[in-house]
Formats: sequence, structure tokens, C-alpha cells
Amino acid sequence: MAATPGSIGAGAPAKCAHSACNCAAPKGQRFCSEYCEKLSRSGSAAHTDCDCGHPPCKKR
Ligand SMILES: [Zn+2]
Ligand SMILES: [Zn+2]
Repeated sequence: MAATPGSIGAGAPAKCAHSACNCAAPKGQRFCSEYCEKLSRSGSAAHTDCDCGHPPCKKR
């Protein structure tokens, strides 16, 4: 029942920092997978699709 120290909006899952990714990132992580992290770092122009392989991104 005590307030969690150093947490903003506790409980809500963070979305993957990849703009084209629909997945939720694990707590403490900005990306859902290494794929998204690499792609985001590479600065690739293809930021309209995500191929991380997770169900939310497998629209075909
Ligand atoms: Zn994704
Ligand atoms: Zn992702």
C-alpha cells in the first residue's frame, strides 16, 4: 500500500519505443526486443513497419 519510489504511472505497461511497433515493452526496457532496439539505433528510414515477430506486429 506504500507508494512505489521513483515510479511514474506505475502499473501501466510501456509501449515499445519503436514508432512502428505495437508491442508493449518489458518493465525497465524501452524496446520489446533487440530487433526494435537495433532498428531504432540504425536510423533506418523504414520506420513504417515492424518485423519483431510479435503477434501485434504480424499483420499480413
Ligand atoms: Zn513490433
Ligand atoms: Zn518493438
